[in-house]
Amino acid sequence: MTATLPVASELYATRTERIPVAILGATGSVGQRFIQLLADHPWFRVHEVVASDRSAGKPYAAAADWRLESLVPDDVANLTVRSLGDELESRLLFSGLDSSVAGEAEDEYANRGCAVISNSKNHRMDADVPLLIPEINADHLDAIEAQRRHRKGYIVTNPNCSVMGLAIALAPLDRAFGVEAVHVTTMQAISGAGYAGVASYAILDNVIPYIGGGEEEKIETEPRKILGRWTEGRFTDAPMTISAQVNRVPTIDGHLMTVSAKLRQRAPLEEVRAALESFPPLDLPTAPRRPIHYLDAVDRPQPRLDRDRERGMAVTVGRLRPCPILNIRFVALVHNTIRGAAGAAILNAELLKERGLL
Ligand code: NAP
Repeated sequence: MTATLPVASELYATRTERIPVAILGATGSVGQRFIQLLADHPWFRVHEVVASDRSAGKPYAAAADWRLESLVPDDVANLTVRSLGDELESRLLFSGLDSSVAGEAEDEYANRGCAVISNSKNHRMDADVPLLIPEINADHLDAIEAQRRHRKGYIVTNPNCSVMGLAIALAPLDRAFGVEAVHVTTMQAISGAGYAGVASYAILDNVIPYIGGGEEEKIETEPRKILGRWTEGRFTDAPMTISAQVNRVPTIDGHLMTVSAKLRQRAPLEEVRAALESFPPLDLPTAPRRPIHYLDAVDRPQPRLDRDRERGMAVTVGRLRPCPILNIRFVALVHNTIRGAAGAAILNAELLKERGLL
């Protein structure tokens, strides 16, 4: 019966057959997280890195102003940064491009036949592009078939970083009780603005009650698409109203938000908590074992203490209590560059692979 055991060379072949991927915007805040999170990924390996003409032609380690705690992985450090638009060998592309260039570039690569998994806002609300959170709306992947009628490849997006935390917290409540209205106030970390985003002189000892680029509008619209349905070839938004107010605060990573919600079907707080805690996980390499961690301590979650739960992939919720204006209120926290960006895109790609779409 020895024939059933793989010999060493077969094991080696299996290890090296990881899918080669390219990172668009590889030098940026999100791009660096992609490099870090893919360093030991069982299914994907970084094969190409792409950025602006400022970086193109340089070794990655020289082009990227690396800011993460871990070192640049050896096999990526010496890759030569490619220019946006270059012909690439990889068929799976992760995009952390600045939104000023992402829209056109992602279209171009998808038209050439690539699967483009994007963090940028440009295509999130397109009529046939899934705005995907695998634990919530995996069935929205059926929209890829509609895209393939007009392009060889396809685009799949993940939501705005605050939306990720909000949508994951709302999904189990919407499934169990229906969510009619939401008011959310965010306290968003500076890494969400990219490295050049907020001057230290502006943010230290301060809170800025405005984030550009339509941040509040994204928070008010994207969850409705995510929690909505794909039927008969179109998306229908979930019937809920969301009001958002956003603030930039001097934390490095982790977007904290206070949320009040009106449920269609009133429920005791114990049932609401049970719905949050029992939100089912997925069996994928990057998926958290529990998508939502509920904390009992009255002063949690906190960004510095809770953002890294489950390698930054879990959303943490606490302080669930009645709301005198709507029904319930709570606090939620999401790691913005991991669950809210690079980790989300990697999880999306894992789902695509599992569904045979890569
Ligand atoms: P960032 O740090 O400013 O990085 C932007 C990346 O885009 C860099 O690699 C940059 O390359 C590249 N780029 C800029 N202009 C370019 C051009 N003309 N041609 C080719 N490449 C160009 O931004 P980020 O925070 O990583 O955000 C990236 C995207 O993800 C944005 O669309 C953002 O809205 C979205 N997002 C960010 C977060 C977050 O928490 N940061 C969360 C969710 C989504 P160079 O280094 O060569 O300039």
